[in-house]
Amino acid sequence: MPADSPSNALKPSTVAVTAGRPPHEPDAPLNTPITMAATYVAGGDLEYGRYGNPTWTAVEDVIGQLEGGRCLAFSSGLAGVATVLDLVGRDAKVVAPRHAYNGTVMQLADLESRGRLRAELVDITDTEAVVRACDDAALVWLESPTNPALEIADIATITAAAHEAGAYVVVDNTFATPLLQTPLADGVDVVVHSATKYLGGHSDLLMGAVVTSDEELYAVLKGRRDLLGAVPGTLEAWLTLRGLRTLHLRVERAQQNAMELARRLAEHPAIGEVRYPGFGGILAVVLAGGAMAADLLTRKTRLWVHATSLGGVESTFERRRRWKTEAATIPDGLVRMSVGIEDVDDLWDDLVRALDTLTAG
Ligand SMILES: *Cc1c(COP(=O)(O)O)cnc(C)c1O
Repeated sequence: MPADSPSNALKPSTVAVTAGRPPHEPDAPLNTPITMAATYVAGGDLEYGRYGNPTWTAVEDVIGQLEGGRCLAFSSGLAGVATVLDLVGRDAKVVAPRHAYNGTVMQLADLESRGRLRAELVDITDTEAVVRACDDAALVWLESPTNPALEIADIATITAAAHEAGAYVVVDNTFATPLLQTPLADGVDVVVHSATKYLGGHSDLLMGAVVTSDEELYAVLKGRRDLLGAVPGTLEAWLTLRGLRTLHLRVERAQQNAMELARRLAEHPAIGEVRYPGFGGILAVVLAGGAMAADLLTRKTRLWVHATSLGGVESTFERRRRWKTEAATIPDGLVRMSVGIEDVDDLWDDLVRALDTLTAG
């Protein structure tokens, strides 16, 4: 797509395919090449490999257009999280979901233990309590749906309250992707992604993304990335760019499969509870037989792979409390399921074969 075309008017699936391409000129490649460069000939804007790379620019262009802001790529999701959390002043209060991504909660605990900030962890579904907590906060961190509890926050209401109190609002949009939720449109200041998950989509890379429509914030974040150096590898940026071309197809199919599996799982006697927010490709089940049943399930399937992480084309699942760092309020027998794009009946048959052994006899 030519750089000057009005991409705002295009639908997200068209943006996913067409943004971040070289101009339509004779002999120009259709795809942005991988530019392996540590340094550039002096006199231009880039100068050095830590400050910029044409392959990053292409992937940032796609993610930025999808979220409705300007994007900065990072070496991982957590590198992006760390860069954003580093913006708050000394001793500032940060409000965050008690069931936010484990690594985010651990970063907050680490910063708090070193006297860097004060973290207040809240039940993100209790909008009134979150609004009250916003009062003297500098930053309100949201994740919706949360990982792995799959709770939903009232982003618009909380953002309005946080802004009233003078706090910045950040949303980790990893689970929803910009196709199902665009927080910047609700007034949110910064969106964070683990591009490792849906944006890359093939479980073969680590990358993060931070997006904002606030030019001043963009400049500050770019300055921090230049200084701290948590920049993505060029190959990772290119693979994410390639993954983004099919984001809409993958998310649509994963969501269809997840919706159908949530419905069928709710009827199985081995399942005590199904948590599905009604959209997206992630669901969680709580096994009626607790941790032991959950561990058995994750070892008895042939298609479903027992692995952490999520958002790939292949279906994976894990019992989250196998991690010592997972919140104690997450049920012992909860299995988070990242539904892939395989045939839904094959996925179901594989699950049922394993689940039936739990209820047999
Ligand atoms: C995985 C994940 C992260 C961390 O991203 P990495 O790329 O693994 O560093 C942050 N937030 C959420 C919601 C995640 O699922």
